[in-house]
Amino acid sequence: NGGGNVRVVVRVRGFLPREVERGAECLVEMNPETQGTKLLIPNATDAANTRTQSRKIMEEKKFTFDNSFWSHNEKDEHYAHQEDIYNALGEEFLDHNFEGYHTCIFAYGQTGSGKSYTMMGTPAQPGLIPRTCEDLFQRIESSISPHISYSVRVSYFEVYNEHVRDLLAPPSHTTDKHPNYLKIRESPTEGPYIKDLTDLSVKNYVELLRYMRIGDSNRTIASTKMNDTSSRSHAVFTIMLKQIHHDLSTDATTERLARIRLVDLAGSERAKATEATGARLREGSNINKSLTTLGRVIAALADPRHARAHNGGKTRSKDVVPYRDSILTWLLKDSLGGNSKTAMIACIAPSDYDETLSTLRYADQAKHIRTRAIVNQDSVS
Ligand code: ADP
Ligand code: MG
Repeated sequence: NGGGNVRVVVRVRGFLPREVERGAECLVEMNPETQGTKLLIPNATDAANTRTQSRKIMEEKKFTFDNSFWSHNEKDEHYAHQEDIYNALGEEFLDHNFEGYHTCIFAYGQTGSGKSYTMMGTPAQPGLIPRTCEDLFQRIESSISPHISYSVRVSYFEVYNEHVRDLLAPPSHTTDKHPNYLKIRESPTEGPYIKDLTDLSVKNYVELLRYMRIGDSNRTIASTKMNDTSSRSHAVFTIMLKQIHHDLSTDATTERLARIRLVDLAGSERAKATEATGARLREGSNINKSLTTLGRVIAALADPRHARAHNGGKTRSKDVVPYRDSILTWLLKDSLGGNSKTAMIACIAPSDYDETLSTLRYADQAKHIRTRAIVNQDSVS
């Protein structure tokens, strides 16, 4: 059965050196039994909090998620390692891919909250993306059926300032003068797609990992040149898994296609740039249209009226989900409200009341979204 709610998990990271330096306090508590996450009121003596955080609406806030991952203190027995995140989420989603379902996992949260650490990780502490790649080829290579063959393809792009940039384009295609922005087209059957996006066939894990690193370093290079774009850009890593099954008794061939989408979103503080005053407001490019639209899309999908409309009720024009208002939501349309099993990882910093509350509320809303995944299977002969 492919109907179900978006899986929503939250992960809190440990203190960074700068937080230890200022004597930050941890405002997050998690209950491993109930998967509850609690946000505490900052202590008035915490200098940084008193300075930067609005004190008026503060109270203790409680939430429950599908998982609350405690990655704050490594000595704690409930500490969630990279491996634990993969075992709780990545592995099951890969099961669905082999069953023929599309999946999407996206990381949401303010800059510095641990999105890239969770999705990509480090060579010593690999995140969801490299673990998925490794498990994928482990499963393919240990498959014993002589009647199933596999094809794996990969693409990697980022959405920056409402432009799509190919992160796997051959170097000769990308120069400072020609940043290789791609156009989006819409096919009546396949929906929106990126024209001319590099899409590479992959034979094994080592090759896939190499493409992952190339794409990642292309992202980083642009990021250092253009004043930390990685906090403003959305990175979308996609693996297409095709299983070709040949049934000897009937001589029928069927194909199962699964799209594995892993998304590292721009820092969520970018969505609120319109609310900022002074210097930030003048810096117009800080307003991230894809991110604000994602918020509106999630709000529309989470609205109970939307669910009713999809169960045969009347759809009013104001219930229409604004997918087409931004590049990111247009491209991720299927993953957000359609044919996909989808999960959101809300990453939070331990001592930032306002941003954490905003992320937890966003995540809480996403729990109400339902998607309708189907097995993507076709007979080819
Ligand atoms: P984002 O991508 O959300 O901006 P990063 O993933 O770059 O944030 O994380 C910010 C910093 O915190 C990095 O130095 C990262 O290595 C570290 N970090 C984040 N999450 C964890 C974690 N769970 N365990 C250890 N270090 C982490
Ligand atoms: Mg990042």
